[in-house]
Order: sequence, then structure tokens, then C-alpha cells
Amino acid sequence: MALTDLTVHELQALLRTREISSRELTLAFLKRIADTDKHIGAFITTCEKTALENADRADARLSAGNAAPLTGIPLALKDIFITEDIRTTCASQILDNFIPPYNGTAVRKLMEQEAVLLGKLNMDEFAMGSSNENSAFGTVKNPWNRECVPGGSSGGSAAAVAARQAGATLGTDTGGSIRQPASHCGVVGLKPTYGRVSRYGVVAYASSLDQVGPVARDVEDCAIMLGAVAGYDPADSTSINLPVPDYQAALKQGVKGLKIGLPKEYFIEGLDADIQQTIDKAINTLRELGAETVEVSLPHTEYAVACYYLIATAEASSNLARYDGVRYGKRMDDGRGLIDMYMKSRAAGFGPEVKRRIMLGTYALSSGYYDAYYLKAQKVRTLIRQDFLDAFNHVDVILTPVAPTPAFRIGEKTADPLQMYLSDIFTIPVNLAGTCGLSVPCGFSRDGLPIGMQLIGRPFGEETILQSAYAYEQATEWHRHSAPL
Ligand code: GLN
Repeated sequence: MALTDLTVHELQALLRTREISSRELTLAFLKRIADTDKHIGAFITTCEKTALENADRADARLSAGNAAPLTGIPLALKDIFITEDIRTTCASQILDNFIPPYNGTAVRKLMEQEAVLLGKLNMDEFAMGSSNENSAFGTVKNPWNRECVPGGSSGGSAAAVAARQAGATLGTDTGGSIRQPASHCGVVGLKPTYGRVSRYGVVAYASSLDQVGPVARDVEDCAIMLGAVAGYDPADSTSINLPVPDYQAALKQGVKGLKIGLPKEYFIEGLDADIQQTIDKAINTLRELGAETVEVSLPHTEYAVACYYLIATAEASSNLARYDGVRYGKRMDDGRGLIDMYMKSRAAGFGPEVKRRIMLGTYALSSGYYDAYYLKAQKVRTLIRQDFLDAFNHVDVILTPVAPTPAFRIGEKTADPLQMYLSDIFTIPVNLAGTCGLSVPCGFSRDGLPIGMQLIGRPFGEETILQSAYAYEQATEWHRHSAPL
């Protein structure tokens, strides 16, 4: 087995006993990226030089015997994370030459552990999309079938893990952007509770929904990554001051006696047959492991997508106002005045989906429509959150599909934005409710594409969903399958 095939927890052991060095491991991953990324396109930027510097520092720390969990582990980050002296594009033309002067909090935490940063990963522009087709740096290909999308918006983060180009990665999830690509690429992805991980130094899309989270080879790696980045941060006023549990230690508690809710609104007619069968089997496995399943209802589910596309676009239209060609990013100026420079810079810098969202959001916030759209959506959001809180009075975990279909073909949905928006129908409610959810591999479609199941937990109940996913994973073989690349 190649070093790049191993999980973070396996690599940890090899590094600590000094059987391998971080430099050796880093070189193996850099070679793997060089050999495979022409087929996948997961990376926007690779940073060989800094990666090897990180690795040498990690080796010194490993030799001194005071390693942190991620010391010496090669990782990669969605290109939405601000990284000091390393280009950060958000997959947009408007930031194609932006080199930030600082690290965001999650990145700083990884660097303090002496993790190795291999590079920055492709994504949908400003995290707007479900297929990675909205990138100014090319579409990412699904490592399981290169004619298919990897999902989005953290498509590079999921594809890189599936292609064994990084030990693990970080993504962000505003409406499904970690869980949906994780499901499509056959890896584990977790969206923590809103406020669990600092958003400081993460380019904002929809600030009341955005959350940072890990994508990893298996559940244990996911727990290690979450533990490394979670926690209160005074620099993010929405981060919550709660202690960070030992997620890895919580994994082995099993699911015996756990109550799992199956929301009837999510198991609807018209669900893809492969998804239905795979999820049904997974439910049975969890029952065999001792979990009890009960039907629950999340009655406002049908309004979630509409509600999300009002709130997310409204917040995006405001957040993206800062890209004006003045302070950073692309500037198109032919001397015809300030307004002309703004318009030309934004017209040239933003792609079509980003422009569509800015227009939708600006409309929803405009006087006369604010009450009818934005305010109404905020009220519906409260009802959706209440649905989840009510359900969690009766169950410990809620289980659903992650996406209504397996990965679709590149180009299949680009002409129909509504179809594209509907691919997040099962993940969006979790963001609106502000709670946590993960995707864990649970089988394959007839065409050999991976399928994930979603486990949703109470606010700050990450331990319970990780423990459930771990019990399921240990009882099954899905995480041992590797993309044919
Ligand atoms: N696909 C959804 C959107 O386009 C979610 C994206 C995300 O979670 N960043 O908004």
C-alpha cells in the first residue's frame, strides 16, 4: 500500500514512531498530486516549497517528542480559507491575484500543530454551486467517474481526499457544500454546528449559514480534524464559548439504545431508487447494531430551498459588495470615473452564477420586497429550526439521504439552475436550523458511484453523529473502497 493510501490516524502512528518522516510523506503526496491532478483538477494552487518547510519543522517537533495530532500530516484547504502569503482566489477571477497578509483562525490552528499545507483546492466560485462547474479555474472531475461532477461547492476538497492527494482537507458548508461532495466522492464530510468553528479568515458567502468543517477518508480522521479546528474565537462574534470535547475518544460508544429519527418528508416518492435501497440497507445495519428507529416529522421541509435561496443570496449580495476593485482583487479602470471602475471590475471579475445570486439577493432586500421575501424567509427559518428541536426531543440522531441522486454528469444541470438548487434539498435544512450533520459512505449506485447517508445531530451534538457514523463504518466495508485512480 502506498503512503498516500493511508488514513490520518494510520499516518500519525508511522510519524510518531519515526518509521517515516513528514518530509518523505509530503514528497509522496506532492508526487501523487503531480501524477493525478491533471485528471482531476482538484488543486488551484500547490505550495511545494512551504509544504516542505512545514514538513521539516514537523519532523523537528516529532523528533522532540511533543507532536500534536496533526503534526507532519499533509493537508489541503478549500481556496476560501485566507492563507498568509499564499494566493487565495475563492475560484473567482476577481481574486485571481489576491495574496492575503494573514492566516484565518482554522488555518492558524492547523499551522500551530505543524500540519503540512499542500495547497489550495478548487471550488465553486465564492462557494455558490453544487457541482464545481462554477469555478473560474475549471471543473473538478469526480475521481470515481471523470465524466461526473464531484459535487460542490467543496468539490476540490472531496475529490482530493478521494484521489488520495491529501491526508484530509477542510471545506465550508453553507447549504450542503461539505456533505454533498463528500457523498458524491465516497468520503466522510462533517458540517459542524453553527458557531463550533471560527469563520474568521474564511471568505464570507452567507454569514449566518457558513460553517467550516473537515472532509476525510474515514470517521476517525474527521473527528481528529474537527478537534483541531473547533473552539471559541474572540475574532468571530458568532463562535460559541463551549469546551471542545475529545471527539476521537467519543467514537467507540456504539449506537446501542440510540434513537434514530427517520423524517417522513425526506423519504419521498421519486427518490432515486439506488439511493432509496442503499439508505434502507444502512438503516437496517444500524438497527442490527442496536439502534432504535422511529419516524419523525419535519413539517416545514418543503419551504427550505426557497427560504435558503432568499437568505443566502441576500447575505451574499451584501458580503460581495466589498469586491469593488479598490481594496483588493481585480481592477478594471480606464479613467472614466469611480462608478465606471466599480461596474467594469465587477462585470469582469464575477462569473454568471455569482452575478445571478447578487441580483436575486439585492432584489429580495430592496425596499418594498424586504418584508415579503427576506423577512418572511427569516420567519420560515425559525419554523424549520423549531422542527428539528422538536424532533430532537424524541430522538438522538436524524438519518436522511445526503442528496436525491448520486453524482450527475458534467453539464447535465448547468442549463437549469433550479434543478441544480434542488440537489441540496436534504442538506439545506440543517444549515437553516444551525445544527450539525455529516455524510458517511453507505454504498454505491448501479453505475458504481458512491452514495452517502446523512446523520444529523442536536446543536453541538457532533460527538453523537460521529459515534453513530463510526459504529456504522466499523460494521461495513464502504470506507475501504478507493476511487479507481
Ligand atoms: N449548493 C448550495 C449553494 O449553491 C450550497 C453551497 C454551499 O454550501 N456553499 O448555495
